Amino acid sequence: EGAVYAEVRRPCRVMILVNPHSGRGQALQLFTGHVQGMLTEAAVPYTLVITEHQNHARELVRKADLSQCDALVIMSGDGLLFEVINGLMEREDWQEAIQTPLGILPGGSGNALAASVHHYSQSPPAWNEELLLSCGFMLCKGLVGSMDLVSIHLASRQRLFSFLSLAWGFVADVDIESEKYRHVGAIRFLMGTLVRLASLRVYQGRLAYLPVKEAPTLPIGSIKSNQPPSTPQHQSLCSSLPCRLIPNTSPNQNSRHNHNSTNSNHNTLTNSSNNAITTKRPETQSDGKTRAPEDSLLPGLDQPIPDSWTVVKEEDFVLVLAIYQSHLAEDLWTAPGAMADDGVIHLFYVTAGISRPALLRLFLAMEKGGHLACGCPHLVYEKVKALRLEPVSPQGMITVDGEMVEYGPVQAQIHPGLAKFICG
Ligand code: ADP
Ligand code: MG
Repeated sequence: EGAVYAEVRRPCRVMILVNPHSGRGQALQLFTGHVQGMLTEAAVPYTLVITEHQNHARELVRKADLSQCDALVIMSGDGLLFEVINGLMEREDWQEAIQTPLGILPGGSGNALAASVHHYSQSPPAWNEELLLSCGFMLCKGLVGSMDLVSIHLASRQRLFSFLSLAWGFVADVDIESEKYRHVGAIRFLMGTLVRLASLRVYQGRLAYLPVKEAPTLPIGSIKSNQPPSTPQHQSLCSSLPCRLIPNTSPNQNSRHNHNSTNSNHNTLTNSSNNAITTKRPETQSDGKTRAPEDSLLPGLDQPIPDSWTVVKEEDFVLVLAIYQSHLAEDLWTAPGAMADDGVIHLFYVTAGISRPALLRLFLAMEKGGHLACGCPHLVYEKVKALRLEPVSPQGMITVDGEMVEYGPVQAQIHPGLAKFICG
């Protein structure tokens, strides 16, 4: 009942990477219990790979024959996808490799991308198994959209690609300190937040950013912009093929919305890079080869901030968070307006002086995306294309997509729509 079958010419081949230790250590059981049957019913052939150690997925993806693979799906938290994306970007053929559609099945304790992707599909909020079913269903449907990536430079000249967040201060501390509570699942972030609130501290540093130039708002009834009308960017996973199976009912009883491909909220923002600095520094690898994509908005980390950037006056922070998806965790709707391919880094920072209760209020309001309406004078939100953060405090933590990276000066810029992801 409720299923429309279409002809199968060539089935899509999916590689599913599972981190058996993610979340409560049940990712594999969750896969066999909730997803396997769905994939079998939808006739999606897949290869299951169980990761054996950290960076296993990264090495595997770096060397894999991707011509045999129509999608790379990870069943874990955000950390494993971070490995996969960086593995793809380390390949000589990165430009092609990063076109491989990426899927996420929430199996970790930090499932921010899964929560975001579910949110973009206009479904009512879902958690745990319900979120997993929603993501499994999207995988069966096989619609593909574009996703921004952010290129991140560290002091050691290492360069990373990030799909979710860059955090310093309170959020980074909670990210890392709460890893020891991974066995409790997604609630680890609430526990970590409460623990960190007790030892709230201030972090000294300098922050600067390149703001997004908002298009001037035109009076109603005035001339239309010369941009083409926005069209949905969805493609099918095996784009040249008819879909295998498109059940027209969602397994998620609560989601009564239609899962069709004509959502209007996946439009690519085609802002050309405004304020691009003119001297381009090609990324050079150790072997002297030029490695694209170039970060045309970023000067060297040792170079001064360009004039077109905004330098934040305050130098005492409680947190700095750059996020480019809607959700920071399953129950933290941090960037309410964010879309996967909006071409924007949503930059939040909280300045020193905020009280513990006020900070807690912000995080509690974030569950429903209400933190910006709290009227908190310490919370600042900017849409940016690039940023630089120079910590002055000798100690602290910086995380990228929830993973700890080298502490020190860091800068980042957006690459609109660089990756492809399976969406609803
Ligand atoms: P969680 O949301 O539970 O933290 P992640 O997907 O973020 O789950 O994974 C946590 C960490 O485990 C990441 O740093 C990831 O690179 C690493 N990892 C991946 N596979 C393995 C493995 N087989 N054993 C140990 N660590 C792994
Ligand atoms: Mg993680």
